[in-house]
Amino acid sequence: MYIKLLYEFEQKEKKLREKEARIKEIDQELQLKNKIASLQDEIEALKTAISGFEKRKLEIQRDIDENSDQLKGITELLDSNKLKTSKEVKAARKTKENLEAKEEELKKNLEFTESAIKEKEEQIREFESEIKEIEKQIQNMKEEMQELEKEIKAESEVLRKEFEKIAKSIPTDILSQYEEIKESFPYGAIATIDSGACANCGAMLPLETLEELKESKGEKLVRCEVCGKILYFPEELK
Ligand SMILES: [Zn+2]
Repeated sequence: MYIKLLYEFEQKEKKLREKEARIKEIDQELQLKNKIASLQDEIEALKTAISGFEKRKLEIQRDIDENSDQLKGITELLDSNKLKTSKEVKAARKTKENLEAKEEELKKNLEFTESAIKEKEEQIREFESEIKEIEKQIQNMKEEMQELEKEIKAESEVLRKEFEKIAKSIPTDILSQYEEIKESFPYGAIATIDSGACANCGAMLPLETLEELKESKGEKLVRCEVCGKILYFPEELK
């Protein structure tokens, strides 16, 4: 049952290939680093915007103080009875009204500016926690990769030794034929037969081929005429 030995060996090899494929995948996923860079750019832009709003906030606060001083002055004047004519009183009242309206408007502006700052700070916090999350993911992937690399190294060594052992029990001509065919199919040169068809390409196999396979009892290399893989008739399917 040489073919069986080789087939079973290839199944183990496939698991190793899957791990190698996962490493390539992780390599791709590590592009997440670019995402961090663009988030950091956004944070910088937000910080610039915040400093603009902070400046504006100080200006508004100064205006409010100034306005409040003027309002205090005019209120004192109105309470002081220093105003002689009703015209003067009326003018002072009008000024007071205007100052009050201005105060109202300035406070609204202040509120708007403060909430803009708050909003941007909140966004920065969100981006920062997103960056932390990505960094954690990257760390995990790196650990997974190191683990896989270690496993692959150990398993390849085991497989190499196992193949040496298998090779000893297989006639050299079959072994060299197998190795030659394997060069075209590094991910597995042997295909099983499924309901009379090649499990690799689906081609129906001629009856003679099936007969030949049964008779050879897995000690001869019979290839699929369509895809070229070595055919294997598992014992349990016969
Ligand atoms: Zn085939």
